[in-house]
Amino acid sequence: MKRIGVLTSGGDAPGMNAAIRAVVRKGIYHDLEVYGIYYGYQGLINGNIEKMELGSVGDIIHRGGTKLFTSRSLEFKTEEGQLKGIEQLKKHGIEGLVIIGGDGSFRGAMKLTEKGFPCVGVPGTIDNDIPGTDFTIGFDTALNTIIQSVDKIRDTATSHERTYVIEVMGRDAGDLALWAGVAAGAESVLIPEKKEDFDDIIGRIESGNQRGKRHSIILIAEGVGSGVEFANKIKEKMGLETRVTVLGHIQRGGSPTAADRALASRLGAKAVDLLMEGKGGRMVGIQNNQIVDHNILDILKMERQPEVSMYHLSKELSI
Ligand code: ADP
Repeated sequence: MKRIGVLTSGGDAPGMNAAIRAVVRKGIYHDLEVYGIYYGYQGLINGNIEKMELGSVGDIIHRGGTKLFTSRSLEFKTEEGQLKGIEQLKKHGIEGLVIIGGDGSFRGAMKLTEKGFPCVGVPGTIDNDIPGTDFTIGFDTALNTIIQSVDKIRDTATSHERTYVIEVMGRDAGDLALWAGVAAGAESVLIPEKKEDFDDIIGRIESGNQRGKRHSIILIAEGVGSGVEFANKIKEKMGLETRVTVLGHIQRGGSPTAADRALASRLGAKAVDLLMEGKGGRMVGIQNNQIVDHNILDILKMERQPEVSMYHLSKELSI
C-alpha cells in the first residue's frame, strides 16, 4: 500500500485531532502518502480530498474537535453514494482508509470493505459505547469536563439545602454518567442499562438528609430520559427544592486530556500498521491496556455492556 486516506465521521470527540495526526505522521514515517478527506463520507462523495504533509497536522494535538471536520451523510447510506465514494478514492489513487468515528461510521467502513476497499475503524466518541474497546477517544476528556462541572455545582449545593439533578450525554450508553458518578461522588446515578427504582433513589436522599447531608447530587444519563422531568418527579414526591443542569455540548469540546491524546496516538498508529499489512474490515481498540484489533462486523453485532463492577462500586460508595 502506497497511499492511504483518513476521515472523521459522525459526532466529533476531543482527541480526534491527535488520531488524525498519528495516522498522518506514522504513514509518512513509513513512506506512505496520506490524504485527508474533509467532512466525513459526504466529503468523500464530493471529492473533498487533499494531500497531507507533516506540517498539515502541526499544532493540533491539543485541540478539540476535528481538523478534517465531520458530517452526517444520508447519501453515503445508499449503494450509489458508496460507489461514488469508491470512485473518488480510485481517482486519487488511495488504497486504504482510516475512519475515525462511532458505530454508524463503522457501518460505512464495513460497506466500503465489502466492496473491496480496505478500511480500518478507530473508535472516536465521547459516549464510550463501542464494544471491543475499554475506552473510546474523547471519553476521558468528556468525563473530566463533567466532573469539573459537578464539582462547581457541589460548591453551590453545599451552600443551599437542595437536590441537584445533572443530565449528562452518552446516547444509549450510561458510561459517562456512571464513571462521572464515581469520580465526582454523586449520591445517585441513573443509567439506561440498569433500571433504578424511583423509591430507592428517594430513600437514598431521605437517609442522606437524616444523616445531616445538606444536599444531594443525582447524575442522569440522557438515555434514561429528561433530567427536568426526573427533577419534577422528585419535587412532587418529596417537596424538595430541586435544580436541574443539562450539561449539553460543553461535554463534546475542550482540549483533550493526556489519556485521550495518548490513546488516540496509539490507536491511529495501529490503524496504519493494519493497512500496511493489507488488512481491512478491522477496528482498533484498547483492552487491558493492550492495543488490539477486531473484525468490524463482529463488533457491530455485539451489544456493549457497561462495566458491572463500576455500577456496584457507585452503589457501595454513595451510601
Ligand atoms: P457515529 O459514527 O458517531 O455513530 P452516525 O451514526 O451519524 O455517527 O454515522 C455517521 C455516518 O456514517 C452517517 O452519516 C452515514 O454517512 C454513515 N453510516 C451510518 N450508518 C451507515 C450504514 N448502515 N451504511 C453506510 N453508511 C452508514
